[in-house]
Amino acid sequence: MDTFLEFLAAFPLTLWGSVVMLFRPESNLNIFYLSSSALVVAAVWYASPAVRTRASSLAAYLLPARVFLHPSALLDYKNYFVFLLVRVFYFSTMVVTGTMVANAFAVHLSDIFGSNPLVEASMWTVLAVTTVVEFLTLELGYWVAHRIMHEIPFFWEFHKTHHAAEVMTPATAARVHPVDDMLVANASGVFGGLGLAICMQVFGREAQTFTLLQYNAIYYAYLLTFFHLRHSHVWIACTGWLGHIVQSPAHHQIHHSDAPQHAGTNLGYCLVIWDWAFGTLHVPTEEDRRNLAFGIGPEGKDYRTLSDLYILPFVKLLRPLRAPEEQEKQPAV
Ligand SMILES: [Zn+2]
Ligand SMILES: [Zn+2]
Repeated sequence: MDTFLEFLAAFPLTLWGSVVMLFRPESNLNIFYLSSSALVVAAVWYASPAVRTRASSLAAYLLPARVFLHPSALLDYKNYFVFLLVRVFYFSTMVVTGTMVANAFAVHLSDIFGSNPLVEASMWTVLAVTTVVEFLTLELGYWVAHRIMHEIPFFWEFHKTHHAAEVMTPATAARVHPVDDMLVANASGVFGGLGLAICMQVFGREAQTFTLLQYNAIYYAYLLTFFHLRHSHVWIACTGWLGHIVQSPAHHQIHHSDAPQHAGTNLGYCLVIWDWAFGTLHVPTEEDRRNLAFGIGPEGKDYRTLSDLYILPFVKLLRPLRAPEEQEKQPAV
């Protein structure tokens, strides 16, 4: 209750905070990262004659009105502010962080293996290995949570709001139901924290991740390049061996495809190595690009308003429970 009252008291500040977040370096949805993503698109535009045939100018290719003014995109812009507001309410109280989990796991591991480091290594080696291990385990946590969202009908009902987007812009990344968001954040916290705890056991308590503005440095590199293009109309495909490692924008666009053969594929966040390992990888092809349509088919028309994004999953989950009563009311034929 106290948390709720604090939330109400801070409401105007929080709304303003949603605007400020567009300019703060610790927010992944800030103008700087959006601009660096635009530079990637410009580089692709100038380097590829085939891409240049798809639009009359770089501006028309980068910001097509048919995408950015589509009703689905307009809903995503409105939702961006609502999502950040709602997130304040649950994120600090219902999500475990990697550091919390790492410290808890580290205590148990040192009870079993002792408190001395198992391996002596230079500071740079420890930093590099810990950064990679944390990144891989965070990715595994995301993959597991995302698989759950697609495989378990209860969670799919909430994740469906994200997949109902008919066009994609960077704001689509915020079209996430709080249930969905909490599942991902907790799974990433647990898996990332476990990875960090293992490094602390192997190299000693001083084992740390190399971070830039609080982000794992590998994730930060992804943030500057591909992150915002995952939710966009810009097709940049990693193929061959790289297509088995990196989640290129095209990988995630295929994940959003309404074609049955693409359902439940490319579940990773920045990488697809766990998809490769567990059989959910779909490396993008030119044929995929030609036939790509985003969404969940006719059911996508259900998600037209902000309340549809937040309330409709609960309504749809409860609907089967009401159905038997309604069937009784129907006259027998
Ligand atoms: Zn998904
Ligand atoms: Zn997505």
